[in-house]
Amino acid sequence: MQKIRYFDHAATTAVKEDVLKEMLPYFSLNYGNASSIYSLGRHNKKSIEEARQRVAKAINANTKEIYFTGCGSESDNLAIKGTVYANKEKGNHIITTKIEHPAILNTCKTLERQGYKITYLNVNEKGFINLKELEQSITKETILISVMFANNEIGTIQPIKEIGLIAKNHNIYFHTDAVQAVGNVKIDVKEMNIDLLSMSAHKFYGPKGVGALYVREGIEFERIQDGGHQEKNKRAGTENVPGIVGLGKAIELIYKNFDEYNNKLITLRDYYFSQIENRIKDVKINGDKENRLPGNANVSFKGVDAQELLLYLDAKGICASAGSACTSGSSSPSHVLVAIGLDEDLAGSSLRVTFGIDNTKDDVDFLVESLVEIVEKLRKSN
Ligand SMILES: *Cc1c(COP(=O)(O)O)cnc(C)c1O
Repeated sequence: MQKIRYFDHAATTAVKEDVLKEMLPYFSLNYGNASSIYSLGRHNKKSIEEARQRVAKAINANTKEIYFTGCGSESDNLAIKGTVYANKEKGNHIITTKIEHPAILNTCKTLERQGYKITYLNVNEKGFINLKELEQSITKETILISVMFANNEIGTIQPIKEIGLIAKNHNIYFHTDAVQAVGNVKIDVKEMNIDLLSMSAHKFYGPKGVGALYVREGIEFERIQDGGHQEKNKRAGTENVPGIVGLGKAIELIYKNFDEYNNKLITLRDYYFSQIENRIKDVKINGDKENRLPGNANVSFKGVDAQELLLYLDAKGICASAGSACTSGSSSPSHVLVAIGLDEDLAGSSLRVTFGIDNTKDDVDFLVESLVEIVEKLRKSN
């Protein structure tokens, strides 16, 4: 069988062995409902609280400020709808950006249909918002600012602490979609003035179908799903104990080995960039070189159709992405690449490669050799 080389860690990651090991007993041996009073259930409640402590510790939050959800998308929905519904009397204006994940953009579109006003901030050619534009967008009606921590397509890391300070000075809640940042960036919600933060386990070697939302103590927010009283009455549904245990273990592990992991990804990424720039002409690196996710490389290959490129890479066992996984399959250009100023052709020639824990220099060499060959072939056939 052909060897698979996986360079799509921003789409999802494999569950780590140690994470899986910790999850397994909760599927069959410890199957009790965590809300039950007998010990089979009570034991699981304890495991959930241990996971909550691990999450809180990783981002310097308090344990009671962490709520478990069904995914990153749900955390985003709960963060935004939950706070604006609970704070209706304070205003109806939300500020976000043009480069958010669909979980934020489509939540905002739904709220627009309900009468909320949304400002979508521009970004510059590197993908950064302008702090002056942010401050000028604030009105008396503004109740929430939601800016993603790091972008899933181009890896740009926003000046989160400064954004949080602006929100704080104006008495506005600040939410950040940190689904790409958790595990890749050190996060301190107190120091960074973050009021709400979303994360998803499957982006940092935990299981799919479980996320968490941090909400600073004292912030009013409403549940958006009706049912039982789980998660302090904020998120109905029988707790996904194995998933929650897995999320807790995964976040603890990733931060325990943070420096080693971070250095490894940066080394692979920068080696990839230098190889591509040296060996293929007419390439453009998208995003910022400094304030960038350690494993993210987004490159436009002028004159090459990225969808075609992906098929040729797949034939060699290489998994990568054009734009984000959520937009691939649709032929419209990535809203992120358009927002940073790429024309439709260049946006459609962009390849996102995201490195992860098991990638080696040998993998990158194979990727580069393959790209040299395929890009030349596709450019000739045009
Ligand atoms: C993956 C992702 C999400 C969605 O998380 P799910 O758990 O897949 O719902 C939200 N925001 C960003 C930035 C992401 O990368």
